[in-house]
Amino acid sequence: MTADRSAARRYDQPAAYQSLPGGPLDPDRGFYAGVASADRTLTQEFEIPIRSGQAWEVKAGSIVRIHAVQGPQVGDLNLWNLHNPREHFWAARTRQLQRASMTTYDRFWSTLPYLRPMATVIGDSLADHPDAEVIHDLLGTRCDPYVNRMLSGEDFDRHCHSNLTRAVLDHGLTEADIHDVLNVFQFAGLNEKREYFMDTCPTQPGDFFEFFAEIDLLCALSTCPGGDLSRHMWGPEAASTQEQLEHCHPLGVQVFSVAEDALGGWTQPEPAAYRGHGGRHGLELRYP
Ligand SMILES: [Zn+2]
Repeated sequence: MTADRSAARRYDQPAAYQSLPGGPLDPDRGFYAGVASADRTLTQEFEIPIRSGQAWEVKAGSIVRIHAVQGPQVGDLNLWNLHNPREHFWAARTRQLQRASMTTYDRFWSTLPYLRPMATVIGDSLADHPDAEVIHDLLGTRCDPYVNRMLSGEDFDRHCHSNLTRAVLDHGLTEADIHDVLNVFQFAGLNEKREYFMDTCPTQPGDFFEFFAEIDLLCALSTCPGGDLSRHMWGPEAASTQEQLEHCHPLGVQVFSVAEDALGGWTQPEPAAYRGHGGRHGLELRYP
């Protein structure tokens, strides 16, 4: 007996990773809604030109807003603990703890052995978009010149991996620190054959995605050279990098401090509570 593979299959199993109500996967939405609507003061503002990257520091308790300024554009985002770059955004685990794309009240989880929310999404102007479940993609990662050379036979130095690498050099980091991204504003997912697809970014000027920094952060963002991703980057239908250029736009970044009283009893999350870490994992040896 073989299963009828022509029948449409639906998967309605519950999420594997769950916490109890009020636990780490159930943030206090009232608190974060209050932060999002509280009085805020602009502390940094800049625009990232097309096909480039920028890194910037953010104090814990601040809000970062990424917004479309001229037209649709995808941004590739990396986050590090400002004081310890070994702790950085862990896209794969975040995908399991949250969803395959991110929206309001989802959290950016950090790598082991830290495993804490580095930031919490508090605003997403596309949250009610009909395709919201495939926007702000967490399945894919940054475009890079190595895969590009493999698929196209051409060298191109403005891929997100390269833009992020150049952006962090002045902050003491290198190419080895660049990690899997959140693809902000990216319309992407799995097609019926479970293949990864990308489609045209739906943002308009004014659309935004914003998050609350739970710890001091170094952030880096690349304006993807595919722009709004409306043209294929690889394969027989591919547009040249020159043809993709007309679909590229800058992205705006703003950082805000928040009125102290809106933060109430908020404190920075502690690293993971598991105490067997340090490479020993259950051996009797302990640090003094
Ligand atoms: Zn890219």
